[in-house]
Amino acid sequence: MSTVQQLDKIAIDVKSHRLLKKLMKENPKLEEIMRNSRNETEALIGVRNWILEDLQTNSSAYNYYKNNGNHIAIDELEWRDYAAIRTLDYIDHAGQEFPDLNLHGEIAVSNPIKMIWMAANFGTGGAKPFFFEDMLELFRQYRGDRKRTFPSREKIQEWMERYPSGLDPRIVKLREENRDRIIRVIIDRLDEGKVKSTRYQFDEGLSAEQKYLKVLDWWKDHCFHLKFAVRDPDLLNKMLGESLDPDTMKVLYAARDVGIPFFVNPYYLSLLHVRVPYFATGADLAIRDYIIYQKPLVNEFGKISAWEKEDIVKPDEPNAAGWLLPSFYNVHRRYPEVAILIPDTAGRTCGGLCSCCQRMFEFQNGVLNFDHEKLRPKEGWKEKLQRLMNYFENDSQLRDILITGGDALMSSNESLQQIFDAVYDMARRKREVNENRAEGEKYAEIVRVRLGTRLPIYLPQRISKELIQILADFKTRASEIGIKQFVIQTHIESPMEITPEARESIRRLLSAGWTVTNQLVFTTSASRRGHTAKLRQVLNDIGVLTYYTFTVKGYMENNYSFAVNARSLQEQQEEKVIGKIPERDYDAVRNFPLEAEKMVDNIDELRKKEDLPFLATDRNVLNLPGVGKSMTFRVIGITRYGRRILQFEHDQTRKHSPIIHKMGKVIIIESKSIGEYLEQLNNMGEDISEYESLYGYSIGETEFRIPVYEYPEYEFTATEEMTNLQIA
Ligand code: SF4
Repeated sequence: MSTVQQLDKIAIDVKSHRLLKKLMKENPKLEEIMRNSRNETEALIGVRNWILEDLQTNSSAYNYYKNNGNHIAIDELEWRDYAAIRTLDYIDHAGQEFPDLNLHGEIAVSNPIKMIWMAANFGTGGAKPFFFEDMLELFRQYRGDRKRTFPSREKIQEWMERYPSGLDPRIVKLREENRDRIIRVIIDRLDEGKVKSTRYQFDEGLSAEQKYLKVLDWWKDHCFHLKFAVRDPDLLNKMLGESLDPDTMKVLYAARDVGIPFFVNPYYLSLLHVRVPYFATGADLAIRDYIIYQKPLVNEFGKISAWEKEDIVKPDEPNAAGWLLPSFYNVHRRYPEVAILIPDTAGRTCGGLCSCCQRMFEFQNGVLNFDHEKLRPKEGWKEKLQRLMNYFENDSQLRDILITGGDALMSSNESLQQIFDAVYDMARRKREVNENRAEGEKYAEIVRVRLGTRLPIYLPQRISKELIQILADFKTRASEIGIKQFVIQTHIESPMEITPEARESIRRLLSAGWTVTNQLVFTTSASRRGHTAKLRQVLNDIGVLTYYTFTVKGYMENNYSFAVNARSLQEQQEEKVIGKIPERDYDAVRNFPLEAEKMVDNIDELRKKEDLPFLATDRNVLNLPGVGKSMTFRVIGITRYGRRILQFEHDQTRKHSPIIHKMGKVIIIESKSIGEYLEQLNNMGEDISEYESLYGYSIGETEFRIPVYEYPEYEFTATEEMTNLQIA
């Protein structure tokens, strides 16, 4: 007997029976089909005929379903059309098997109508309550009982007000208390000889007050925070005033035992509240969830595999996107125009370890780590860097270099200067060689340089005057050889991360003429109503443009942080929409980076002119475990646990490796059901009636890119030929 046959025999539980009863009672037509069908095929045909007949009376919706609408017709879909299309998609994919990578490749089968038929006639099929809840909502939407009502701007602003920023004077005051508590622990550790340091030690005979003032002074130095970063659960708890409960500590000990690194620097730890202020209940949760590991991560650590297949690089073989690369660990590439450079420097570490890090598999195998001494550049790095630059120089399409890690700004100033010099020389040579190439045969020249870093909020002390000088000098020199876009790409999760120190770090980066853009990871806690909208507003206040809102990547290890894609769509369409920039302002926005120093004023001016609370310059997307980012999907299946199966298409709005024509559509099985996600929100104190339309978001389209993120045009015609590409 196959596994599926075995599962079909499993009796449904009491709660499922109750939900099934409700489903039948609310939908007499469905009940009739289920009761009168002699087998699953008749049930499938019965439901199909019922829904299809209805959908055919609405040509836009029918064309959309048949994919004839070329995606343009999505705006014409009624809310109940979403439900009709989803039901038909379920039937079209009935019985299909998908490897569930959340469960290490276990086979998942989707056949929801069959599961309802089995449950209704035999009480079997093994479907769980979250499955039936999703079905109940599906048919309520189809009947028109669930309407999509868009919240008013006032409502959204009310939600946003739940989240103070780290600039709120009351929060600043509380963080000073947190800092002082942490400083006291550090003083004790130094006095007890638990930390050895030649740089950070007290002179003989200092009073308690003098020691405090000394550490307060060290607090401004980023190296101090790296030296005194917390590396074990007990110290973490101590610095948090012993406020962690025994269950949390159990998970943290287990995390330590399976080898998950701990690295929380004192500054970032001071953002966590041990005394929850009445006006900011739950406000620091998105930060807390980045620090405190959860069970799914502990269970999976050691078995985590790369989400993006193109990040797996083997010698002399093209990666999943078809690109040949010069090194296993230093260059990652998805698209024709851009490649990521990961230097062999301290840039292979970070200011802290984010619990849902997209590169956790590299912390797992030690390629990324927190051993700062070992990460100093080794002999031979200079030559290797040259070899890596040759790759960029001799590639016909590369025009954008994203220097990251880990964290690009964890590299020392000397290492960064060395990298900038190498990039400058490469870009200059690429330009010079191009002079001898004919029109239409010229290679793309480097026009954009980016640094990926979370340090403006993890460790704002790192954004020193010396670093700013290096950035400003590079911009001046590189502008002369045609590089036009200089971008710091940050990763800020919460308005509570925007402290006076973080604001100052951003001000400095802007003063160097670099544009600062943000990538948010849409974790469960960051996905609460109003949280992301508020973050956009506070980021704009300090001069940061929002770039991407990413669905959490990864498999079961990120199950706790994962917010379902339906919520990302809901956020995009119900909350972000109040910051939509009118097209008449696109030219103005496009020019913002030309005056990065005036970013705060320019953003403010546009917000005032158009009466926008923030500029919605980001796109909500998922990084596909294949090639590229997309939010173009349809829900085509559902497991018996209620976890949805999404079929994604590639983002049609950007250039890809030609391999996508061979790859086809990408299937994602979400690691949690909508019911589980809502339960989690409920446990976070959310009123889940505010999320009512969530189940209905089953079709997504990738948003268009705001022109500020477009590459500048060349004054010559570049070649279409792609080098370093090998497609079998
Ligand atoms: S800063 Fe980025 S690379 Fe570093 S741990 Fe966080 S998510 Fe991962």
